[in-house]
Amino acid sequence: MLSDADRIFTNIYGLDDPGLAGARARGDWDGTKALLAMGREKIVQTIKDSGLRGRGGAGFGTGMKWSFMPKEVGPRPHYLVINADEGEPGTCKDREILRSEPHKLIEGALVASFAIGANAAYCYVRGEFYRETEALQRAADEAYAAGLIGKDACKAGFPFDFYIHRGAGAYICGEESALIESLEGKKGQPRLKPPFPAAVGVFGCPTTVNNVESIAVAPAILRRGAAWFAKLGKPNNTGTKLFNISGHVNQPCTVEEEMGVPLKELIERHAGGVRGGWNNLLAIIPGGASVPILPKSICDTVHMDFDSLQKVKSGLGTAAVMVMDKSTDVVRAIARLSRFYKHESCGQCTPCREGTGWMWRMMERLVHGEATIEEIDLLQEVTKQVEGHTICALGDAAAWPIQGLIRHFRPEIERRIADRAAAETEAA
Ligand code: SF4
Repeated sequence: MLSDADRIFTNIYGLDDPGLAGARARGDWDGTKALLAMGREKIVQTIKDSGLRGRGGAGFGTGMKWSFMPKEVGPRPHYLVINADEGEPGTCKDREILRSEPHKLIEGALVASFAIGANAAYCYVRGEFYRETEALQRAADEAYAAGLIGKDACKAGFPFDFYIHRGAGAYICGEESALIESLEGKKGQPRLKPPFPAAVGVFGCPTTVNNVESIAVAPAILRRGAAWFAKLGKPNNTGTKLFNISGHVNQPCTVEEEMGVPLKELIERHAGGVRGGWNNLLAIIPGGASVPILPKSICDTVHMDFDSLQKVKSGLGTAAVMVMDKSTDVVRAIARLSRFYKHESCGQCTPCREGTGWMWRMMERLVHGEATIEEIDLLQEVTKQVEGHTICALGDAAAWPIQGLIRHFRPEIERRIADRAAAETEAA
């Protein structure tokens, strides 16, 4: 269990002042000038040594990503882009940071920008986060007024500007290259890669795109040292993590815990347990809507980190835990997610544009058992044709929940088909 001394987000519930005075009292902006004095290379190396993996879902090493930026700043300026377009169903961790810990994000943006040679950071906030944008803007205004950012940030001789950009509510703008397109004022559609953003990013310039949580924890790591962060969690899955727990639990919540915490402990300790007790659990989606669902038998023992969840053919994703008790119609639940991904497909590539709609329609039929057993295999085959054959990961995101359902709940799908066939025979 994470001790309070190791907690990074000490005001995540907004019980204390989210403004500059409160943030300073909690240790933010403490000696930031000294952090910048470490120099670019040492900052990047410290983040690498800490083992921090991106908190937006993919889990790529944050320090490694920073190191991909050109070492020298040429005629094209460098940019940091912060992805606050939190649209994955069930996920609401970045929202809490924007609301209650905005100074951690702005301080993180300053040190991260310094580390990658950028003098400006753009924070792309989900359009629906209106109050969160206001809270972030208030914090940015305070930081400018106090000289913490601006022409001479923290009196370190480093000019730094922080811009906030509101999206318009499209899920796909959370994909980094679609986000960049949208930031440039274009339609938010993913780009083909390569080139990657570190070579050609926003406005055609070298860019690093990071999740809100990845940036917000950076100052704490630099202050307390890579070894401190690395000793939390597990090897290759270090540090602390914000978990969102929703669905059929007694107390849905967002909580910071060590990486690798057992899923059962996370739910029982922090979310008041499953409604009706642990034995009333049917299944859990452990990392936001796009990762495959896990049945109770796996949830009993699995740990919440990238590698453990990958081993059981799911993923940590955004660490948004969606709990379903035995009252859940699991086929309908996954069909609803299929509809979501069909709705959010940007339509650029055929497997996603056509496949998401086809899979959703098939899922709707399976809800009522209106299919044959062979069509379950056909659906599985189509998910494989979509997965990995699209420009961005939305195709995978649409395929994985269905694959998880078939893997673990095929008997339930077959039962519905058999029940319907029996009812039709009887009626005839
Ligand atoms: Fe658009 Fe889907 Fe292709 Fe992504 S996978 S680019 S969302 S059509």
